[in-house]
Amino acid sequence: MSASLQGYIIKGLPAIKKGDDLAYLVQSLFNLHDGDVLCLASTIVAKSEGRVRDLDGYRPGARAQKIAKDIGKDPRFVQAVLDEAAEVLLERPFLLVATSFGHIGVNAGIDQSNVGEGRILLLPKDPSASAKAIRSRLDRDCAVIITDTCGRPFRCGVSGVAVGWAGIGALRDWRGKRDMHGKALEITLEAIVDEIASAANMLMGEAGDGTPAVVFRGLQYPRSGGNVFMPKDKDVIRPHLMS
Ligand code: GDP
Ligand code: MN
Ligand code: MN
Repeated sequence: MSASLQGYIIKGLPAIKKGDDLAYLVQSLFNLHDGDVLCLASTIVAKSEGRVRDLDGYRPGARAQKIAKDIGKDPRFVQAVLDEAAEVLLERPFLLVATSFGHIGVNAGIDQSNVGEGRILLLPKDPSASAKAIRSRLDRDCAVIITDTCGRPFRCGVSGVAVGWAGIGALRDWRGKRDMHGKALEITLEAIVDEIASAANMLMGEAGDGTPAVVFRGLQYPRSGGNVFMPKDKDVIRPHLMS
């Protein structure tokens, strides 16, 4: 018996602008099948939602100016990060914040690459809502995952994570399943949306490749359930950060 997983890099997407219909663009370049997982870089979702900002549009307040001086960043950029933050977890040596939708990321996931000089790109306001809207415009019954490249605590190197998803459960629940010796598993929740996002991110590239959409075919996945954003009251690391 064998099983296989195919990953397709969609080529030919244009520079995305506000108002672009990503579901239409993807489907005009690629034939989706039921059960496929469509992964989209948060970058293009954010661009289609008009989340590009001019740095010149920010008037840094006192806190932004102080942090900017401490960490050697543009105070306008720091103000943009503070504006996107529901909570600041670290001010130095870099700005680590929680976004309103629950993702914790350096600089609130604001990008300065692939967006042009003097401009920044905020993450989508609610990436799972974006994923749901895009999914509803697909002709096939597919899952949608919105990815971003992130650093990871305790590990070197960046990797893709899921910042939003629809039509797929974030976590696969192995609890109660038996191991090879018949012992029932007690705690394993597998972050499948992050595992898929990380593979997608690897295929997308980080620079000028122009390939922000990847499709996986052949995956078995739960259709609902779970969340990869750690609830604040269960997070044992978070309370130690601002102390
Ligand atoms: P992020 O991981 O979501 O922050 O996005 P990146 O900036 O790392 O870009 C991921 C991929 O999308 C790379 O292959 C980029 O070249 C590509 N990309 C970014 N913006 C666009 C765009 O507007 N159009 C196209 N076709 N590709 C883009
Ligand atoms: Mn990014
Ligand atoms: Mn990236």
